[in-house]
Amino acid sequence: MTQQKRAIAVIGAGPASLYATEVLAKQGHQVVILNRDIKPGGLAEFGIYPTKHKMKTGLRRYFNRILQRDNVEYIGNVTVGMEADISLEEVRNLGFDATVVAVGAQGTKWLGLPGEDADAVFHAKDLVYHYNALPPFSEQEFPIGEHVAVVGLGNVCLDIVHWMVCEKQVESVTAIARRGPAERKFTRKEYRLVSGALDVPALQAELDRVAPAMEAIGQNVEEHRKALKRFVDKPLEKESDTSFRMRFLRSPARIEVDERGQVTGIVCEKTRLVAPEVDGERVGLERLGEFETIECDTVVFAIGDAIEPSLGLPLSPKWGDTFATVPEPWSEEPDRPRYMVYDPRREEPMWDTFVVGWARKASDGLVGKARADAVQGCDEIQAFLQGEFPVTPSGGRSFGEIADGLRKLLDEREVKTVDFEEVQNLTSLEQEEAQRRGVEEFKFARRDEMLRRLGKSDNNGESRFKGVDR
Ligand SMILES: Cc1cc2nc3c(=O)[nH]c(=O)nc-3n(C[C@H](O)[C@H](O)[C@H](O)COP(=O)(O)OP(=O)(O)OC[C@H]3O[C@@H](n4cnc5c(N)ncnc54)[C@H](O)[C@@H]3O)c2cc1C
Repeated sequence: MTQQKRAIAVIGAGPASLYATEVLAKQGHQVVILNRDIKPGGLAEFGIYPTKHKMKTGLRRYFNRILQRDNVEYIGNVTVGMEADISLEEVRNLGFDATVVAVGAQGTKWLGLPGEDADAVFHAKDLVYHYNALPPFSEQEFPIGEHVAVVGLGNVCLDIVHWMVCEKQVESVTAIARRGPAERKFTRKEYRLVSGALDVPALQAELDRVAPAMEAIGQNVEEHRKALKRFVDKPLEKESDTSFRMRFLRSPARIEVDERGQVTGIVCEKTRLVAPEVDGERVGLERLGEFETIECDTVVFAIGDAIEPSLGLPLSPKWGDTFATVPEPWSEEPDRPRYMVYDPRREEPMWDTFVVGWARKASDGLVGKARADAVQGCDEIQAFLQGEFPVTPSGGRSFGEIADGLRKLLDEREVKTVDFEEVQNLTSLEQEEAQRRGVEEFKFARRDEMLRRLGKSDNNGESRFKGVDR
């Protein structure tokens, strides 16, 4: 059967979007990407730690090849959503045969603790966007003190520790975990980058302290002691006197703030590990009703991100914090994830709309996982495009008509769109600047600067980022 060429809108230009675009474009479809940021890449560009040059360059090259395809059109600096440049409904009504939502997890997850709204309390994502030069976060001040507490013990926590150690050079940074050393979520690769800053006597004392709790549920303390001390002699990327510590079995309860509004500490409830009832399941946690204050002047939450509801997709009635996807299993595989969006109010699928990557499941894994999710999602999109569902693609308008309609709408709203050629021009300007300054990488950190360099002025700047002025 010959494949009919379809017009597809993809919202977002992170890894999930670009890998989905690759599959759909290779199937011969015409893809239009609408991206909030001027540059493509999402967290691969603005999340992955800045000094991971090799990984970032490799991904940029790969993504550029996708964006250079004749049947792919990139439109940057356009936010899709409610009260944004264009609504999702408007995109869908232009006549695209399918719309793929790959906007990542742009919302912010908080624990709702007293004191969280103090000035020196930050969410990791905002800091990560800041140090990776993503406007408007790059233009905001993030005053960091000398003693930083980071809540969470995954890779993002370690990226924050890395930045505090190598760039901010704070006096101390303490990662706080509700569970124990065996439940750490970070990978060896990330740990190696910060281990040189470990306060080794403090680590030793902390492991001695938690050893009985670990042994009580049959964990091998020595195995984890060895793993955690493995890279302590590894030199840091930049010389630094920062002490990196970890505090286990502590669940944050509130942030202490003095009368001037300054953070003075984070109060944590002591916890105990509970052996899982079934082998291989997650270790449980019991709160002990006793508290400890860890002194600090800055708190960073590295506890994962959330979807941003202002995009305008229906939310799952079951989970509340995910976009709703069709509830029934699509194929014979019962655990297969669903990608087609569902409207719970109307109790019917939004047949032409799909969600992939971190927009489908927030903070779920590395680029490889976002890729796998996007590729798997394309099976379902392709099944829809081939008419395997009760409702089939509209197919009423030609790609040219759809693209003209989109351009007209964005022009009428004076949206300063940026195409892929302009992105490449910006990249060349940045490379020239990096050479002039003798640094490995230089990035324009202001939206107006980027637009000025491209001969455009910015009049749709800040509203696109919900939550930035929390
Ligand atoms: C701090 C951090 C460090 C990481 N480090 C690594 C690492 O070292 N190695 C690794 O493999 N993985 C790493 N990851 C994971 C990796 O970045 C993710 O797996 C991946 O980026 C998720 O892809 P995504 O496309 O779903 O979302 P994202 O990468 O978030 O992309 C979302 C895209 O949607 C756009 N967008 C958002 N909202 C809108 C809107 N309303 N309208 C239009 N466009 C919109 C954004 O501009 C962006 O282009 C890291 C993640 C974080 C948070």
